[in-house]
Amino acid sequence: MLSPRRVRDAYRWLLSACLLVWAAGLTGCRDATPLPPGPWPVANTRTHTASGPVRVVVTVGMVADMVQAIGGSHVEVDVLCGPGVDPHLFKPTRDHVARLLSSDAVIFAGLHLEGKLHNLLLRLSNQHPVYAVARGLPADRLLGADDQADSEGVVTDLESIAYGQVDPHVWMDVELWAAATEGVAQFLSAYDPAHARQYAENAAAYRAELLELHAEGRALMSQLPPHRRLLVTSHDAFRYFGRAYGLQVEGVQGLSTESEAGLQRINSLVDLLVERQLPAVFIESSISAKNMQALLEGVQSRGQRTTLGGELYADALGPVDSSASHYRGMMRHNFQTIARALGAKTQ
Ligand SMILES: [Zn+2]
Repeated sequence: MLSPRRVRDAYRWLLSACLLVWAAGLTGCRDATPLPPGPWPVANTRTHTASGPVRVVVTVGMVADMVQAIGGSHVEVDVLCGPGVDPHLFKPTRDHVARLLSSDAVIFAGLHLEGKLHNLLLRLSNQHPVYAVARGLPADRLLGADDQADSEGVVTDLESIAYGQVDPHVWMDVELWAAATEGVAQFLSAYDPAHARQYAENAAAYRAELLELHAEGRALMSQLPPHRRLLVTSHDAFRYFGRAYGLQVEGVQGLSTESEAGLQRINSLVDLLVERQLPAVFIESSISAKNMQALLEGVQSRGQRTTLGGELYADALGPVDSSASHYRGMMRHNFQTIARALGAKTQ
């Protein structure tokens, strides 16, 4: 006879297995169910009926910061990708899928940042309130990947957004990220109309705080000597940052961390660093520093001293006990680290 504990374990195993089969159905490439038209989740029609806060599962810390600020005490936020976790490569486990399913609502960044979760989230939206933060952004401010963009990097073919041809690192421009607050407040209000006013007020306050941070970042970056306004980082997460704060940005890896940097790319970057006599390059918290070491060795062999200027936070927040444990602290850390290493006048 099975002990109650064995029965409980068996039951748990069965439940997890069912969840996995269900999730595989959502993500499986042979599944014939078409995705909803366009890149966005289906509009939410359910409302909050349970007592207590709305339990929101979010994918990344940057989204968590916004949802917590807007939702205040009316939401309880659960983050899937913790500090240092790369959302491009994040694969949900049984536990993650269970958390998604048992939530009241799900909010993710969108634009295929969550590459391996994207289809699952879109399909989940057929039966669950799901929202992509990027939904609230003006399309003409999005940067396209390679051939999907015009000469200024702006996406001309909106259809391409649906297929992941847009740079997803939109939070790197604080003003642009601030533009997404209204959509999140509206989504929360649609699900929990009883607190709509509070959500709108909180969103306005958060937006104002972000705009202040944006101005702070611009002021700091404008202190850099013009020839040093060159940011070399591990992967192409800083293109929005470069546009917003006036820096040329070069990533060692491609847009996604799934592609390896080629030797050719490293060599052309070595040329650029030597030509500009750049004092520092940067690594990112969620990306391996391997390629950056190759770059630094290349520069050194040409007789120039370029050092690691520090670690920047690109796709994930800093550790819980650090000042970068929330979005505003993370961006402030980036501004200050770059300013210090590249020699801003006020540093
Ligand atoms: Zn990234």
